[in-house]
Amino acid sequence: MHLYLHIPFCRQACYYCDFHFSTSLNGRADVVDAICREIELRNDYLPTPQLDTIYFGGGTPSLLEEADFQQIFRTIHEQFSVNPAAEITLEANPDDLTLEKLQLLKRVGINRLSIGIQSFHEPHLKHLHRIHSADEAQQCVRMAQSVGFENITIDLIYAIPSSEADPHAIWRKDLAQAMALNVPHISAYCLTIEPQTVFGKWLRSKRIAPIDDSFAAEQFQILLDTLRKHGYEQYEISNFARPGRPSQHNSSYWLQHPYLGVGPSAHSYDGKQTRQYNLSHNTQYVSAIQKGKIPAEIEDLSEQDLINEYVLTSLRTHWGTSLDRMAELSSQGFTFMKAVLPELQTKGWIRQEKSMIYLTEAGKLFADRVAEELFWV
Ligand code: SF4
Repeated sequence: MHLYLHIPFCRQACYYCDFHFSTSLNGRADVVDAICREIELRNDYLPTPQLDTIYFGGGTPSLLEEADFQQIFRTIHEQFSVNPAAEITLEANPDDLTLEKLQLLKRVGINRLSIGIQSFHEPHLKHLHRIHSADEAQQCVRMAQSVGFENITIDLIYAIPSSEADPHAIWRKDLAQAMALNVPHISAYCLTIEPQTVFGKWLRSKRIAPIDDSFAAEQFQILLDTLRKHGYEQYEISNFARPGRPSQHNSSYWLQHPYLGVGPSAHSYDGKQTRQYNLSHNTQYVSAIQKGKIPAEIEDLSEQDLINEYVLTSLRTHWGTSLDRMAELSSQGFTFMKAVLPELQTKGWIRQEKSMIYLTEAGKLFADRVAEELFWV
């Protein structure tokens, strides 16, 4: 069973980000109280109360202070039984990770860090409106390793538009710097421009151009070649791990396990028929929770949703998509999808091994499009 906690605060808004967060930290204590109350109110949401992973995401959970962590962990331990080997991840920004903060995180029980680096190239960090420098990013990973955090993942972004002569050389250098850190896990995302972000506004006003697909595909290929050469396995389109080191928490989403998400904008999945989406508004969230109400929209998943979601998530992973599972979820949907498979095989985007289908190397370039072509509509 899996618990996600959304900590909705950031020091500064990155220009590409459309997650829910506030740059005012004033309401932090109220939100922490409300998150703890929500954990109490929803302690029976999961089929069993044993947690195998806990994930502090955001936002920037590294902004929390020791008393916040103690309050949250106390509540979790009162309401759930936590597997002694549980993976407990915290997303962090390099500027927060001082030696004292790292020691505090170790003390309160965090055993995996997800560090948002995005780039080691100073002009790119400025363009993305990241708050930290490339040096801080390097140093914080080494400092985390020196205090005993071995289980570290870093986030990188590629296809960042650049006016420099050789943008691929910049990306190769970013990757070389990432390899030198010798972390067991890397997530690398193609820059996407979401409408509600600063980049979205700039795109509409033509201050920036859309991301060029072939440029993005070339950068993706450089990523695959480099990480493979250094012993990382691509176990999901954007996620790479050394053997035995995939993220257990994120894998639970892709394997469609039940999870409880608490905090403003957090999502939950009961593992069967419904998803739940918390309100993305800090004060309204707090005020509803104070009245004992969960401010969430509940979505009943139809047979069509279930099979389409399964295909969308599983196809992106190295575990692949099971034809038997598809048939189990919907015989009608499976008949529809089966008719589309030969065409995708002819295009060279998927391959079939017994009753499993997988994206080919070429198919990975269009993972979402391949899934959409398979969708039962
Ligand atoms: S990318 Fe991370 S740090 Fe930047 S605004 Fe989004 S949640 Fe905050």
